[in-house]
This record gives sequence, C-alpha cells and structure tokens, in this order.
Amino acid sequence: MLELHSFIEDIPGLDSTKVSLLQKQKIFRVYDLITYYPYKYIDKTQIHSIGLLQENTWVQVKGKINNIQLIGQGRTKRLTATLFDGQGNLSLVWFQMAERIQKYLNPETTYVCFGKVLPYGFQLQMAHPELSVFKGDDSLKNLGFHPIYPTSESMKHKKLDSKALQSLISETLKQINPEVFIEFLPKSILDDLNCMSWKQAIWYVHNPRDERDVAASQHRLKFNEFFLLQMQMKRLKQTKKTLKHAQKISSRGALFDLFYPNMLPFSLTEAQKRVVKEIFNDLNSSQQMNRLLQGDVGSGKTIVAFLAMLIANGNGFQTCLMAPTEILAKQHAASLTELARDLPIQIDFLSGSVKGKERTRILTDLASGKTNIIIGTHAVIEEKVVFHNLALVVVDEQHRFGVAQRAALWAKADKPPHILIMSATPIPRTLAMTLYGDLDVSIIDELPKGRKEIKTKHIFDNKKNELFHFLKNELDLGAQAYIVYPLIEESEKIDLKNLQEGYLQVSKIFAAFGYRVVMVHGKMKADEKNKVMEDFSTGQAHILLATTVIEVGVNVPNASIMVIENADRFGLSQLHQLRGRVGRGNKQSYCFLLTAYNISADAKNRMKVMTETSNGFVIAEEDMKFRGPGDVAGTRQSGDINLKLASIASDQNILMKSNDITDSILGSDPDLNHENHLSLKKFLHFMKFGFHWELIS
Ligand code: ADP
Ligand code: MG
Repeated sequence: MLELHSFIEDIPGLDSTKVSLLQKQKIFRVYDLITYYPYKYIDKTQIHSIGLLQENTWVQVKGKINNIQLIGQGRTKRLTATLFDGQGNLSLVWFQMAERIQKYLNPETTYVCFGKVLPYGFQLQMAHPELSVFKGDDSLKNLGFHPIYPTSESMKHKKLDSKALQSLISETLKQINPEVFIEFLPKSILDDLNCMSWKQAIWYVHNPRDERDVAASQHRLKFNEFFLLQMQMKRLKQTKKTLKHAQKISSRGALFDLFYPNMLPFSLTEAQKRVVKEIFNDLNSSQQMNRLLQGDVGSGKTIVAFLAMLIANGNGFQTCLMAPTEILAKQHAASLTELARDLPIQIDFLSGSVKGKERTRILTDLASGKTNIIIGTHAVIEEKVVFHNLALVVVDEQHRFGVAQRAALWAKADKPPHILIMSATPIPRTLAMTLYGDLDVSIIDELPKGRKEIKTKHIFDNKKNELFHFLKNELDLGAQAYIVYPLIEESEKIDLKNLQEGYLQVSKIFAAFGYRVVMVHGKMKADEKNKVMEDFSTGQAHILLATTVIEVGVNVPNASIMVIENADRFGLSQLHQLRGRVGRGNKQSYCFLLTAYNISADAKNRMKVMTETSNGFVIAEEDMKFRGPGDVAGTRQSGDINLKLASIASDQNILMKSNDITDSILGSDPDLNHENHLSLKKFLHFMKFGFHWELIS
C-alpha cells in the first residue's frame, strides 16, 4: 500500500530513469504525482462548427478540403488548403512533407481534422492537423476524451508521454491506502457545496469521460487547495494569538494625549481614525498584534503609524519604524522628527551607513532605553541591535515581510513586539486572504480631502518635444517633476546608460531656462543619494531623474509631474506606485506614460487601465489578471502560494466559500475534536508533510 507521503521510488514498477525524470518536475511523493494535473483535455468525441471556432483552442472539425496549393520554394515551401464544413472555411497549412500530403488529399472525401486553431491575419488557421477520413458519427465515439499533461522532451523520449503519465497516475491511485481516501469534509458541508468526494474528483480529473467530469472534479480539487491553505493559515493565526503574549498597552498614554489635540497638523480622515482605533484595540488586548495596514498611495499611513508609536512610547516602551530603502527611512526620520518637534522624545536613525561614534551612541541609547523611537532600514533588526523594551515595530512598504522575518522580531524582546506592516500596493482582498490569512487587515479606503485626481496620459516617444514644452510651462508656475527610467536587473548597464543619456538631454534643455536637473539611482553612494533627494525636496532642484528607487514612499508634495519612460516595462502596481509620488499637494498633478508606438496589445491594455482608473484596488485586481497572483505579491519564487488548479483571480467564488467554511469549522472547534471533524483531523495528519500542520497544531 502507498501512502500520500510515500516517495515515488516506492511505486511498484517505476524504474529509476522515470523516477528521476519525474523528480525534475518536482514530483517527489505520491501526493505530488496524483496532483500532477493535466493542463488541458482533448475532446475527439465532438465535431465543432467552423463558424463558431475560437482562437487558441484545440478542436475537431470535419468537411471537404479544397483550394489545395503548393506554394513557395525550398525552406518556404508549404501546402495550403481550405476546409469547408458547409458553413465556414478554415485555412489549413503544412510546412513539412507538403508534397506527400498533397498526393493524399482528395477533394471528394470528407475528412476529420484535429488541431489547434490559431489566428492567421483576419482568418483562423490550423497547422499540421491530425487528419483522418470521416467514417460516420458512430466512429467518433471511440476516439475519446484525453487528458494532456505537461511533459518535457526527455520525458517523451523515455516513454513518459501524456498517455503513459495518465496510466501511471491511475495505477498509482489504485494502490493508495484506502484509509487516506476518506472524505474529510463533513457531510453537511459536502452537501452544501454540492460537489463530488475528493476520491472521485482525483480519479475523474485524470480519467474524465467528458467536459462535465472535468469541471466537476476540478471544482472539488480547487476547493481542496484553498481549503487546506486556509486551514493552515487560520490555525497559525489562532495558535499565535494564544501563545504569544505581548506587552499590554493599556492606555493611550500622555504623549498621544499631548500630541493629538495640540500638534496634529491636519484632521484625520474617518478611515485613519478607524484604523488608529483598530490598532489601539490590538495593543490593549495583551495578545500580540500582527496587522497589515493597506492604504493606497497618499492615503496617509505614516501619521497612523506615528500615532500608534506614540501610544506605545507614552506607555514607557520603545518603538521602531523600518523602511526598505535608506532614502525612505531618512525621509521618515525627517518627517517624524518634525511632527515630534515639541514632544519630549528621542528619535534616532540607524542604517548600514551610520558608523563609528554615532553608531555606538545609538546602540547604547537603544539598550538603555534612552532612544524612544528608532527609524531605519533592516539594520535595526540585526542581531547586534539590543533594545531596552521594544513593544511595537512598524514595517513600511513591505508587503513581502513574511512569517520568517516576523519571527526574527519576536526574539527582540522578552515579550514579542506588536507588528504593523504597511503596504501601499493594495492587495486584492482574495489574495490577502490566502497569503496573509494569518494577519489581521486594516484598510484606509479614503484619501485626505482636497486631493485632485492625477491626470494620466499615455503618449508616444515622438511627442517628447511637446511634453518638454508642457513641462517647462509647469516649472515656470513653480512645479517640480520626476522622470523615471526602468531598471531591470538583467540589463542594468543599458538601463543606466539610458538614464545617463536622458540626464544629459534633459539637463541641457532645462539648464537653458535656469532649472536644475538632478539624478538618483541605485548604484550611487548613500550620502550622494541623500544629497540629491534633499536638493529635490527643498526645491533647489527642479527635475529629478531616477530609477525605481523612488518607487515607494518618497514624499515631495510640491512635485506634481511624473514622467515614466518605457512605461510598458513596468507592471501595473509599479506604475501606480510611481504615479502616487505626485498628487500629494494641492496642485493639479499629471502623469505621463511614455512608450514606443508599437508596443504589444497587452502593454496597450495596461496603459489603458492606468489612464482610466486611479483606484489602487482596481489596479491590483487587473495586475493580478495580467501577471498572476505570485508576481503581484512578489512570492512566485518563494512558493508561499502553492495552488495548482485554483486561481485566486478567477476562482474567487470558491475561495470565498472556503473562507466561510474554514472560519466556521475553526471557529467552533479549533482543535478539530468534534466527531464531525475527526476525518478532517486524520486527513490533515496524513498531509503533514506538505502543509506543516505539525508546526502549528
Ligand atoms: P502613504 O499612505 O502613501 O504613506 P503618507 O503617509 O506619506 O501616505 O501621506 C501622504 C501625504 O498626505 C503626506 O504629505 C501627509 O502629511 C498628508 N496627509 C496624511 N493624512 C492627511 C490628512 N488626514 N489630511 C491632510 N493631509 C494628510
Ligand atoms: Mg508611505
């Protein structure tokens, strides 16, 4: 008998060559093998009508073949023909064995053609169709419905093609210990979901009789993927809550009470107020806070973080604010120091570039408790940094701050500090649910009053002169501008060259009008960068050329124009981030997306999304459609989301259902001791190897 966690070496009759080929596909255990799903199915039981064909589908059509022509010479020689089914024409083409096929084709015969339909000019075309003579409708039934699996060339060579995989998987399924094929969902839930058992589902996904089997089995298996992931996340959240006792911060404290009524530079939006309350409730609960604060660019997350920090500071604790880049950390240090001007607290800044006496002084003050707020880069959570009594850590602009990094913080104090993660990359709700199921989420869904919509235009490179003209007029009215160049690691050198050439060009033009142009990029030393940023934020420089180092967080309210070069090379969320650098003051702001004329249809669509909406959540949803959830969250490589069939973007209904069901199961029976949940507990035990259930139960 095989177990789900048995290694594939244990499958009877599977030789070592095949084992190693499968391992290359990341199939190590029986469970990996049986969840190695077909990526498509081929239906040879149906004949499609040519008039209704869609691009990029695999179909079977039938009809008479005419217009048979041999064209071209040598390498370009090919055979073309037209298949007519009484209603529509489909173009056929053969690049190989053209003459042989030409001889075989008979205009009087009815053929069945099977293949992939591709666009061909304004028509549709099938290249190298599988061709057979039509022998009546009954003969079609035997052709069947086949799964097609992802296979590499070497798999095909070593007799591990789709057919072989299908029978290997089906044979393996028959040998699995029947005890693990128990239905783990309680009957009431199964009825409610109206879906097949998982044993049936896993069988039919590999051996479907028709489309309906595919749909029904995939539905159940997608549910399983969300369900298991969410069970794990929510269980983690529950255990963390009960295990991790944090510092209880029981009052708003003197600092907050001094600051809020007297020194707050503006009144908070309703959303900001709500979130401050949510955070205070967490701090006050003696359970450790793990909260994700989402708010669009410019929604005012910093002040919320500062208020939360003041609450902790006012109760006698230390707090910390961490940013991903030195520029951003510096800027936070400057703006919080300004906000705290009249408060009796000490704020220090720490990064890799703080050295010597200053560093020693800061480390000493942190250890003694003299420093109240420390602001910096990752340097602040290095092992050497010792705190007196750290109670709250705010992590800015880092939605990738995963479980492991958070765990490193827990070691910084006897009681783990509360953690607030802020992100301006709005994560679609469904993605947050799967990826951050273990975090509580607060959302600022309102911008401060008086903000004007940023006017966004997609323009082609050849309109640059007009753009510069416009720019000059705006600068004459006192505005400042960013011009951003893409910087992509593989081609860093070329990109840097583009930036430098752009710098020469732009400075030459604008120097003539008395404007100062400066440049910042990742290869510069920290103090050079700081100098440039300072010149720009104080208005001594008028145009800042930059790579995406300015993507997150930079706040220069007087800057009202954002020009993005090669905008098609950025993802939607990134564009949105960049655009968020302007529109921060009361000037009308503009964002120009520059691209070449002949960009891909996909890129055109992205530009369109940008010009049509400024809602970060809409953009995040669109981004997820374009790039897939892994890319949006930056976790594609990390394997945080291991979904094979289910898609966070397109299976939202199933996800929501799973969300409700996992809530209700864990809400009423967190340790799964109820008799209805025993099968589930048993199954999760079988699944231990894949889901780290042992770590959390
Ligand atoms: P983000 O959420 O992108 O980090 P910031 O915290 O940098 O946004 O805030 C953007 C700008 O809006 C800052 O200049 C900040 O001072 C200002 N701001 C924040 N909240 C308000 C408010 N309630 N009313 C007016 N201005 C605000
Ligand atoms: Mg910010």
